[in-house]
Amino acid sequence: MKDSHGRNIDYMRISITDRCNLRCKYCMPEDLPSIPHEKILRFEEILHICRLAGELGIRKFKVTGGEPLVRKNCMQFLKDLKELPATEQVTLTTNGTLLSEYLPELKRIGLDGVNISLDTLNEHTFEQITGRSEFHKVMDAVIACQASGIRTKVNSVLLQDINKDDFFQLVGLAETYQVDVRFIEIMPIGFGQQFKGCNRQELLDMLSKRYPNHVQVHEHRGNGPATYIYLPGFKGCIGFIDAIHGKFCGTCNRVRLTSDGILKLCLYYQNGIDLKSMLHAGYPDSLIRTAMEQAIFRKPTEHQFHLAALEGPAEQRRMSQIGG
Ligand code: SAM
Ligand code: SF4
Repeated sequence: MKDSHGRNIDYMRISITDRCNLRCKYCMPEDLPSIPHEKILRFEEILHICRLAGELGIRKFKVTGGEPLVRKNCMQFLKDLKELPATEQVTLTTNGTLLSEYLPELKRIGLDGVNISLDTLNEHTFEQITGRSEFHKVMDAVIACQASGIRTKVNSVLLQDINKDDFFQLVGLAETYQVDVRFIEIMPIGFGQQFKGCNRQELLDMLSKRYPNHVQVHEHRGNGPATYIYLPGFKGCIGFIDAIHGKFCGTCNRVRLTSDGILKLCLYYQNGIDLKSMLHAGYPDSLIRTAMEQAIFRKPTEHQFHLAALEGPAEQRRMSQIGG
């Protein structure tokens, strides 16, 4: 469906849990209280909301977390989501630690793509960032996933003084393997506020010196806001997702569903509509669908992340509770 700015909203990111088995510095650095199980939407409830979203024209779903693969019965949920009448595409964003064991099942389900978050190729830096020594599991999963034929992307957040120097090694993944590697600018949400990230221009300047003959990709790749370049001889492309320095709100196509059932219209703003309460109160589908339609229509024009430094963030949840 179109929102009031004429943007076509056809994509929903669904956070199915706020729990995670890593402790990334900028996301969930310590053991923090999780949302109690009874406050998390059951899979049937998420599917119910996705079916209504499908009727409003949302056809592409990204399943995220916390870490989605830590939630029991995630595979059956992905299969059911894939089989909803309006679904065109189901993809997954994961930290990759549990991915290898689920790959055969994901292939059977016909998953349309996997994004694996990996911020470094250095085992020690990995442990420094994630608090866990799971680097090899993630790296093995990247290799196995791209070899399985499932479209694979690697997402990296680069932080000044921590892993900026890993940039070229991460870029090199797209030379060796069939993966796009995308660099996501850190956003001032939750613990992300404490870090200084790297933006597209800064990374492009570094890249241009080493690969002066890189080529801008004009065709659209994927559903998101990434801009891509191609390096001759590489198997995959290099992408940049720059929410702060390269604001892309004018072409935003997405809404988010948090694990506790809030339909969130923009990453920046805390507010949204409480679909869980509507489901629990037994509202008819027509009413819930209308509430969703009206909320999506009024999706905010743009984020105001530049104000976060002055006024503090409008969103009080952590990224692990929203799903990225
Ligand atoms: N656990 C899964 C993973 O790591 O892919 C899914 C959830 S995680 C919140 C999704 C993505 O958000 C990851 O790629 C992570 O690096 C990114 N992320 C977390 N905090 C962020 C922040 N403050 N700014 C930008 N990206 C962030
Ligand atoms: Fe977990 Fe992903 Fe957050 Fe890291 S970025 S703590 S893997 S949810």
